[in-house]
Amino acid sequence: MEEDSEGFRYPVVDTDKCIDCGLCEKVCPIKAPMQDDTVPESYVVQHNDAEILRSSTSGGFYSAIAKYVISKNGVVFGASFDENMVLRHTYSETLEGCAQFRGSKYVQSLIGNSYSQAKRFLDDGRWVVFSGTPCQIAGLFGFLRNRKYEKLITVDLVCHGTPSPRLLAKYIWPITLQLQEAR
Ligand SMILES: Cc1cc2nc3c(=O)[nH]c(=O)nc-3n(C[C@H](O)[C@H](O)[C@H](O)COP(=O)(O)OP(=O)(O)OC[C@H]3O[C@@H](n4cnc5c(N)ncnc54)[C@H](O)[C@@H]3O)c2cc1C
Repeated sequence: MEEDSEGFRYPVVDTDKCIDCGLCEKVCPIKAPMQDDTVPESYVVQHNDAEILRSSTSGGFYSAIAKYVISKNGVVFGASFDENMVLRHTYSETLEGCAQFRGSKYVQSLIGNSYSQAKRFLDDGRWVVFSGTPCQIAGLFGFLRNRKYEKLITVDLVCHGTPSPRLLAKYIWPITLQLQEAR
């Protein structure tokens, strides 16, 4: 994945290693958009724990699903900032660890190798919940070749788009760090 001129990451084919199988283009959600015209059954949900509700961006439903999956010895994937304030997809197997994922971060997260990690857990028969933007969830389904896993729960959040990580690094964090140092 390489940054474009605005700081968004895009896949680039390494022509030295490419064997021309075309698989990356077949599973790309941009080149092969998913077709799904079904209207899902919908509910309005709000978490009944006031503290979780306060620390979530909306109703806190994600945390309720994460708790359910952890209670089944499952694995929870989400986006959290690392020590360098870079937003990355990672996973947790504990309820305490899931707290880092709570709340919307308005920047593109780095998927890294989380798709292959999720597949490994699913192939081992574990429950997995994977949250992310709709395009990241479409990417996960493409990676899994649309194979249906009964123990996979996906949470694609309502999303207007993500700002670029470079924008955040360039303008926001220096200001935040200055404020922290000034305190
Ligand atoms: C980039 C972005 C754009 C959004 N656009 C809209 C919009 O147009 N309209 C609207 O009504 N709401 C929008 N939201 C808000 C969002 O849809 C809800 O507030 C969110 O689903 C909160 O649900 P929750 O309270 O259950 O979970 P929370 O606990 O608040 O968060 C749910 C999950 O979001 C994941 N997440 C957080 N930031 C990111 C990120 N940058 N990339 C991938 N996953 C992330 C976390 O892993 C967490 O698991 C946006 C949020 C984000 C992050």
